[in-house]
Amino acid sequence: MVGNQVTAKQQVPFDKKVEDIKLYIDGAFVDAESKETFDNISPFTNEKINAVASGDETDIEKAVKAARKAYKGEWGNMKMKDRLTYIYKIADLIDEHIDEIAPLESYDTGLPISQTKKMVARAANNFRFYAEMVSARLVGEVYQVDDEFLNYTVQKPVGIAGLITPWNAPFMLETWKIAPALATGNTVVLKPAELSPLTANRLAEIIDKAELPDGVFNVVHGYGETAGASLVANPDVELISFTGETTTGSEIMKNGADSLKRFSMELGGKSPIIVFEDADVDRALDACTWGIFSFNGERCTANSRLYLHESIAESFIENLKDRVANIRVGDPMRADTQVGPLIHTDHYNNVKSYIELAKDEGCEVISGNIPGELNRGNYVAPTILLNAKNNMRIVQEEIFGPVIAVMTFKDEAEVIELANDVRYGLAGYVWTKDMQRGHRVAHAIDSGMLWVNSQNVRDLRTPFGGSKHSGIGREGGHYAFDFYTETKIIHVAMKDHHIPQFGKK
Ligand code: NAD
Repeated sequence: MVGNQVTAKQQVPFDKKVEDIKLYIDGAFVDAESKETFDNISPFTNEKINAVASGDETDIEKAVKAARKAYKGEWGNMKMKDRLTYIYKIADLIDEHIDEIAPLESYDTGLPISQTKKMVARAANNFRFYAEMVSARLVGEVYQVDDEFLNYTVQKPVGIAGLITPWNAPFMLETWKIAPALATGNTVVLKPAELSPLTANRLAEIIDKAELPDGVFNVVHGYGETAGASLVANPDVELISFTGETTTGSEIMKNGADSLKRFSMELGGKSPIIVFEDADVDRALDACTWGIFSFNGERCTANSRLYLHESIAESFIENLKDRVANIRVGDPMRADTQVGPLIHTDHYNNVKSYIELAKDEGCEVISGNIPGELNRGNYVAPTILLNAKNNMRIVQEEIFGPVIAVMTFKDEAEVIELANDVRYGLAGYVWTKDMQRGHRVAHAIDSGMLWVNSQNVRDLRTPFGGSKHSGIGREGGHYAFDFYTETKIIHVAMKDHHIPQFGKK
């Protein structure tokens, strides 16, 4: 490495001796009360990276108690300006440590370093963005009733935010929830994914360094069924923001029903990309390839269903095959790697079983190359499933790996019907130069987010979330305030108005 420059094909230097991880509760790094730990495994070698404290109900209770104390105490009573100073400080500290956090994330998840670097930078932006949003947009409304009443709304924090996150972009997704939760004045208990605990721990160290009051931010590592379920069931936790699989989301909603939790659900996807005959096919090909194969295909908004107009299908598929043959599958720590290993052997087996299923269902399977020296990792080669049909399981179910199903269509009406014929509705991508059609199709597709002539480019001011089985509610922009704050209405009489006289003699 020359200075901070990582040149192509160079290995990012990284000290693989990672300390064992503790829970972060009430401003201190502590063992689980049970002293239990679990092993964190490398996706690249399938060897143990380190041991992680395995929290359970007792640790969750401790963390929630600390969060309650902080909420009732210093944090809850802090002036907004002072609170936001902490949020900016976290953003600055993340920025200062990007070159150290990104390799840690790649080491833990198998995501290529060039991609984790961008995600860590985005994580810092999440904090900065929400500090700005809260000072500019956390506003109420006033309703004047002639000269009699002034009715106004105020936004109050909800209390203790329980945040449960997945492994597929852990650091970014954690901060995407923590930033608005803290900036609006809540305190937090985070339960990160057990498969990717390293950067959640690093975030706890950063927040500790930013000297937030004890108990404002807590991290309880552990399994979903124990630590996660206890967080959901805890009656003192007011809200759960969850990102993960649709079936887990549904389970969480059942478990949180007794304590009437407020939920935000960011769930799975099976997003279509539609390429019409008049599209800029070169750009559509770039977007399509990046959209499914970046992040090892483990991206919620991945365009995993490709619908090609029949007149351009043959040449588009030939070019896609060419791309797949040339995608650089490699060590996630190499600056030029485009696809790394999948998170875990269970997930690897699951993705491989879908590729086998595709063959059984009658698809032609075209796969890229995996260099021989990578045989210890959970590598699945970028894969195209040709001759797919909408009713196949490989088209209906989320595979969450570097696998794209390809179909053709004759006209707009047909492709809208095909695109909508799944239970998911997270994202969609439309490629056409006819902008009337672009708008029309974007309106017609049942999904929370649509991109016309673009890949998944985010504008943090806009809402993020899915429809159908892809989610409930929206985060992002000021939409996060609907979830992380309680809207209170205050009615003030400006003069003596008529009050009905009950029981007066
Ligand atoms: P997952 O549902 O298996 O796990 C997510 C988190 O939930 C983990 O922390 C896990 O420990 C916890 N958990 C599991 N069971 C639980 C329970 N019973 N109670 C409480 N917590 C529990 O998901 P995953 O495999 O980690 O992530 C991949 C999924 O996430 C994919 O479906 C992907 O599409 C989805 N995702 C969605 C978005 C979005 O914004 N819509 C973003 C990223 C990922």
